[in-house]
Amino acid sequence: MQAPSLGGVQVPRGNGSTTIRLRQGSSLNDFADKIDANPASLVTVLFHLGEMATATQSLDEDTFGTLATELGYVIEMVSAEEEDRELLGAFDIDLDAELEAEGDDELEARPPVVTVMGHVDHGKTKLLDAIRSTDVVAGEAGGITQHIGAYQVTKVHEGNERAITFIDTPGHEAFTAMRARGAQVTDIAILVVAADDGVMPQTIEALNHAQAANVPIVVAVNKVDKEGANPDKIRQQLTEYNLVAEEYGGDTMFVNVSAKQNMGIDELLEAVLLTADAALDLRANPDKGARGVAIEANLDKGRGAVATVLVQSGTLRVGDAIVAGTAYGRVRAMFDEHGETLTEAGPSRPVQVLGLASVPSAGDTLLVAPEERTARQIAEKREAAERAALLAKRRKRVSLEDFTQALAQGKVETLNLVLKGDVSGAVEALEDALLKIDVGEEVDLRVIHRGVGAITQNDVNLATVDSAIIIGFNVKYAERVEALADREGVDVRFYSVIYQAIDDVEAALKGMLKPEYEEAQLGSAEIREVFRSSKFGNIAGSIVRSGEIRRNTKARVLRGGKVIGDNLTIETLKRFKDDATEVREGYECGIGLGSFNDLQTEDIIETWEMREKPRA
Ligand code: GDP
Repeated sequence: MQAPSLGGVQVPRGNGSTTIRLRQGSSLNDFADKIDANPASLVTVLFHLGEMATATQSLDEDTFGTLATELGYVIEMVSAEEEDRELLGAFDIDLDAELEAEGDDELEARPPVVTVMGHVDHGKTKLLDAIRSTDVVAGEAGGITQHIGAYQVTKVHEGNERAITFIDTPGHEAFTAMRARGAQVTDIAILVVAADDGVMPQTIEALNHAQAANVPIVVAVNKVDKEGANPDKIRQQLTEYNLVAEEYGGDTMFVNVSAKQNMGIDELLEAVLLTADAALDLRANPDKGARGVAIEANLDKGRGAVATVLVQSGTLRVGDAIVAGTAYGRVRAMFDEHGETLTEAGPSRPVQVLGLASVPSAGDTLLVAPEERTARQIAEKREAAERAALLAKRRKRVSLEDFTQALAQGKVETLNLVLKGDVSGAVEALEDALLKIDVGEEVDLRVIHRGVGAITQNDVNLATVDSAIIIGFNVKYAERVEALADREGVDVRFYSVIYQAIDDVEAALKGMLKPEYEEAQLGSAEIREVFRSSKFGNIAGSIVRSGEIRRNTKARVLRGGKVIGDNLTIETLKRFKDDATEVREGYECGIGLGSFNDLQTEDIIETWEMREKPRA
């Protein structure tokens, strides 16, 4: 059916309820394909609806919606998760149906997975260290625990040896970054609150994040060894946030601990197990191909891509064909947190996996595929979809009006960033936090590239082309790259604390918003005679040579063309015996510069003020 449309172009129309399914990140080309139209005519129609887009540009749901309504269609955008589900379906993998089909016969108890959260400096890292050091198994093996992103400890609870898995990246940033990617790995959150400091902004934030995710909380009241520690006050404060301690009739367990002195750690683990048993039914089927989540990954010089995977169900074995996000491969070797090799890993076990062809992202789901070819095909399809979706996310939609207006006013300012980190989890947490900085409308923050590993020539080149700043988190320059960055004048900043990076970027963004000032000359006067006054210091009997001299303005003194006193203030200004606020060119006056007394005849006093520079 052809009908005239906006702009006089012919576009096949729907009947008002004709549904078109589009992938996230689709372009007008894709839409045109589905309705058998000419992409150029869709560009024209959209233009007449007040939106400008090219045929290949990825558009968001709103834009498609506007266009579809006009043309008599209903748009159904397929989310990344849905799309991925469909993609896996094409390979006969249906994860939801699989879970549903599992009954009591297949399910076995699995250890809880715990994330430690709380305000900065309240002792999250210290607590993770303390818990790690209580591990009996590690003690027996005499092994040093390595940071692989997660570790497991065991504890005897009611006569049974029970395991607990800890995510080794504290804080709610990583937790939420993973959730944003659809990965729910945490069963229980330990909220650390320092007893000497109390509930702080990030305590609340962490609590909100955990509650939003429906994750039960155990409160670790830390630093009880410190003088001035008031553990009961913490209990009181938290009741306001619906965390009521058991001893006050609530159902949240509070445990007093000292991460520093290793006190209360056992009780804390006990509380985690009790909470898990009371609030959760943690079971999984170990007898199938593994399904899990990549929680950390990096590129190792000798070993290639190294990913720490938390197995969520099934069992992962050496030799399995796996796909994690867009990375695929075959499990070549597996290690636990003590560096011991493993041949298999069951539910809730974190393992370091070697054998992926590329580095997955934190939060990517991992699954075992029937064969390596399938794993590769899934990875490739995902990569294509991801690329398209990324384009859609990055491109900020601007209406024609906004855009020309902004351009005309010189308001379009973008801070481009390249993020590099040692592990993908950190890079994602950083990007997530950076994109959340509220920068207002005038500036735009864009992460044009992110990756794992040292800062390379490529990164610097990219930064040169797009005038970007490079942020390196726990990484260094690759060989010879520093010289290149210097030569190209690329700003490369290194951090080992996420907050510092965020603070700096925020400051930079605010700086971009700050008006620029320039010095404006107000007037000048020549000293004719110097009067000494015990009350006011030296007074310069002067004649105003240009402009005017005003009281309270900034001044400097020049002798023979050289500045001998700067950043002074016209503190007193007199016409004969009277105070004056201003004295104009050609008139005589007495000028006092406060405590600055180095005045001679023929010196020039110049006054100036800082004025806001008009934006280019
Ligand atoms: P995070 O920012 O939450 O990871 O905090 P850290 O674990 O880095 O700890 C911050 C500071 O508090 C460090 O100087 C720790 O040594 C100190 N700290 C942590 N736990 C305790 C504790 O139980 N008692 C005392 N006195 N100090 C602690």
